[in-house]
Amino acid sequence: MSADRGLELKFEQEVERYNYFDSLTNLPNKHYFYQVIEDRFGDDLPPGDAAVLFINIFKLQRINESYGYEAGDELLKMIAQKIQSCLPPEGLLARFDGDKFVILLNDEAYDSAENEAVALARQIHHELTKKIHLGNQKIQVAATIGISSGTSTLHNLIELLQDAHTAMQRINGLSTDRTLVYKPEIKSRAQSILKLETELGVAIDNRELEVYYQPIINLASGTLIGFEALSRWNHPERGAVSPAEFIPLAEESGLILPMGRWCMTTACQQLSEWIKKYPEAGALMINVNVSNMQITQDDVMAVARDALRHSGLEGHHLKLEITESSLVENADQARDILLDLKSLGLQLAIDDFGTGYSSLSYLHRFPIDTLKIDRSFIMDMNRNEDSQKLVHIISNLATTLGLDLVAEGIEQQEQLLILRQLGCHAGQGFLIAPPLPASEAENFIAGGHNSR
Ligand code: C2E
Ligand code: MG
Ligand code: MG
Repeated sequence: MSADRGLELKFEQEVERYNYFDSLTNLPNKHYFYQVIEDRFGDDLPPGDAAVLFINIFKLQRINESYGYEAGDELLKMIAQKIQSCLPPEGLLARFDGDKFVILLNDEAYDSAENEAVALARQIHHELTKKIHLGNQKIQVAATIGISSGTSTLHNLIELLQDAHTAMQRINGLSTDRTLVYKPEIKSRAQSILKLETELGVAIDNRELEVYYQPIINLASGTLIGFEALSRWNHPERGAVSPAEFIPLAEESGLILPMGRWCMTTACQQLSEWIKKYPEAGALMINVNVSNMQITQDDVMAVARDALRHSGLEGHHLKLEITESSLVENADQARDILLDLKSLGLQLAIDDFGTGYSSLSYLHRFPIDTLKIDRSFIMDMNRNEDSQKLVHIISNLATTLGLDLVAEGIEQQEQLLILRQLGCHAGQGFLIAPPLPASEAENFIAGGHNSR
């Protein structure tokens, strides 16, 4: 072979590498993947079952923002190796975009490609729970995996890829299960979510979202302790959309992450301004709800740290409200995250306490400051002795564990009186005030609220 031909070949190989392989991980890329599918299945052979796994890694963007792109790249390489180590010989792994990987499984020996894929997904999740050393940091990443399976015809495989992607996007942030196998009904749900997602996606930019503030008072003295920040969506056609409707959808679509960031930033900024304007109200707290998905899939630590830094608010003015389920479902990971959060000097509350899990052992394990008794107990406390007993028990529990107690949903004077007798020190509810737009909440501070 002449030197020129040798060079040409080398050039061709390089171009091929460039076009078909990802230079960072050395894995095949999207184009290679489609090419292989076409070559292998172009004539609809070999027959049998195939499955596609669509893997989405989270946290990467926050890692890029916090530690820089070099660290993000390093982490991606290690993640790719971890996934590869789980791959059976017949599997094809490709890196699609940034934090997305795809696996094709196809072998005539399979009884069920779907079962193979589910088992592989389990193994990948397990591998990813092991912490990765990045410089002197130990980082734990997690993934959601959508799976689809069917007969391996060319047409079908392209569809399988789309279906696996749809399933991956549909994985609910509230679920512990981070793998979802595609079913046709997922698609219609996905379409309506997509519409809402598109609308919600621009809602922040269009200033359709607003933070309302519900006062929390000291039940004995009536003085204002702080506010709970509650999001509102003023939809251009539908009017006010309740958080009960849009928060679950924001969680499903992943939009809860930018929304949560926005809410935390806005609320900290607002309280910081109020404290400057009303120094006499200097001890006020702002409570911000943190969704399960923010704990498991986002760097809530960086979000809180940035919100405090940008607003100039000191950590002890911020309290994060977390539900029991996010602690119990991901106990080890949650404990590490909560300890990190506490290092910012902020406080942590369990929201809707009493509705989730019967095991209380987690209360010892997590660095919690406050229990918020769920509204359902307060609601029928004056009619139902069992509810009142339960509130009494929760109050004793809080005292024993040295935790603050806040009652939610106080609507009647009688409920407030019972709560005072039971030693519950703080509360919020329509009797005191509903969630208010910032200007009205400010009147609440300016008026030096002190009543009841
Ligand atoms: P939550 O955190 O338990 O908030 C208390 C809910 O009870 C609020 O509903 C509040 O308006 C309502 N409430 C307060 N006092 C009373 C009362 O006396 N009677 C009755 N019937 N209800 C009362 P809202 O604002 O509709 O929020 C519902 C849930 O949505 C919240 O429950 C919280 O879990 C979630 N949420 C709201 N905003 C956000 C947010 O920005 N981020 C996250 N992650 N979740 C949010
Ligand atoms: Mg709350
Ligand atoms: Mg609540």
